[in-house]
Amino acid sequence: MARNPGTTGLIMEEPLLWEKGKKGRLGMSIPESDVPEVAADAALTGAGPDFPDLSEVDVVRHYTRLSQWNFGVDTGMYPLGSCTMKYNPKINETFAATPALAAAHPMLADEYVQGNLQIMYELQNYLGAITGLPGVTLQPAAGAHGELTGMLIFAAYHASRDSKRNKILIPDTAHGTNPASAALCGYKPVPLKSGFNGILTVKSVVDAMDEETAGIMITNPNTLGLFETNIREIAEAVHAKGGLVYGDGANMNAVMGVINAAKCGIDVMHLNLHKTFSTPHGGGGPGAGPVCVTKELEQFLPVPRAVKVGDRYKLEYNCPQSVGKVHSFHGNFSVLMRAYSYIRTMGAENLKKASHLAVLNAAYIKEQLKGTLKLAYNRPCMHECVFSDEWQQEYKITTLDIAKRLIDYGYHPPTIYFPLVVHGAIMIEPTETECKDDIDQFIEAVKTVVEEGKTDPDNLRKAPVNAKLRRLDETQAARRPCLCG
Ligand SMILES: *Cc1c(COP(=O)(O)O)cnc(C)c1O
Repeated sequence: MARNPGTTGLIMEEPLLWEKGKKGRLGMSIPESDVPEVAADAALTGAGPDFPDLSEVDVVRHYTRLSQWNFGVDTGMYPLGSCTMKYNPKINETFAATPALAAAHPMLADEYVQGNLQIMYELQNYLGAITGLPGVTLQPAAGAHGELTGMLIFAAYHASRDSKRNKILIPDTAHGTNPASAALCGYKPVPLKSGFNGILTVKSVVDAMDEETAGIMITNPNTLGLFETNIREIAEAVHAKGGLVYGDGANMNAVMGVINAAKCGIDVMHLNLHKTFSTPHGGGGPGAGPVCVTKELEQFLPVPRAVKVGDRYKLEYNCPQSVGKVHSFHGNFSVLMRAYSYIRTMGAENLKKASHLAVLNAAYIKEQLKGTLKLAYNRPCMHECVFSDEWQQEYKITTLDIAKRLIDYGYHPPTIYFPLVVHGAIMIEPTETECKDDIDQFIEAVKTVVEEGKTDPDNLRKAPVNAKLRRLDETQAARRPCLCG
């Protein structure tokens, strides 16, 4: 290929600070002390770690160089499927950092934080409008935390009707957190196999649903990037047996302003603000997984929630049926702020457009690469498309080899070996924020790598060769992680 964004120039080696330090180096100048020196109490200070002596420039260069070893959406395309690693406008960071909002103490009385409460109240309403589910809690700190909150709401609902249920249906295309959250809440996950075309059949749900089953957790679009077109009939089958429908809304990036969850028959749904609504994510947080519910289930939501009384805002604690608190204070407020800013700066029409573009970009990649890699399901995709390494088997090339070689071309590899239902899966989610030129360059890189796999498979198996580190022994890394440098 003609050009690729990957290169190795000017990426520095970097020793540990302990190896770099020299006795007597100083990072700052402190004025001479004008009071008598007193020995510190050894019992208080203890032996303490032996910190290295470093100058300011040592420290600045050390951390700047380390930051250059990182890769993020601000560096380049990050096409991880199931994650929505999209570029987030910096204006949302600016708003989230506004001191009057960001520095407000969570225990201040309502009258001193009317602005914060107004933002929480309005954000609840926006998320309610986006999902069609009007009862909203902002407390959960991540998607999985939202799922657990949803399961607690399921349990509270069934308990309020004296209905004893201990199972929950979970399709094989669900995110791994779904069965985990259900199990944490005491439910036994019952796996459902998706149909030949990658989506769930109504029959499989009808056959599995009974009066001991609390409901179903369904991800839509599912983790294959496919829309569960039977969602409404599935919801009817679950409701007919007294169950509830949980919608995992982490893939909302594909359907903002397009799908109304309530009309699909969904009763409870979480959103991942750190995927869809403008918080950079990866590396573990912070996040926010607000939960939206039907009017009927609103009484079970965690406390407190922001409410409006006249023209004032307050935190409402008086909800006797509530499942209680699921997070200290009000969730991760800075993430809520970014989502609020994102929704307000985009507006309803542009949120919809973002989803349309996210789907268009994935569909474009699917069409451009379907002659190069085998498509797992040859049908219209939503925000991500899934290939397998089936056609590479005759060259003894695997998904891992392709992913590692893409690093040499300057691309963070897509998600690999997930979802589990596709053997050797390669799952690509470009998001709406990549332009056509960049997507074309990525497509060319994938095609070049796959071609190399045919002409020089040995070289591909050695990849990456241009990266800072060569291929790691992943078994060794997992079994004997070296965490001390
Ligand atoms: C990311 C994701 C989750 C989990 O969200 P976390 O914030 O990582 O806990 C759940 N379901 C789906 C479909 C996801 O993509």
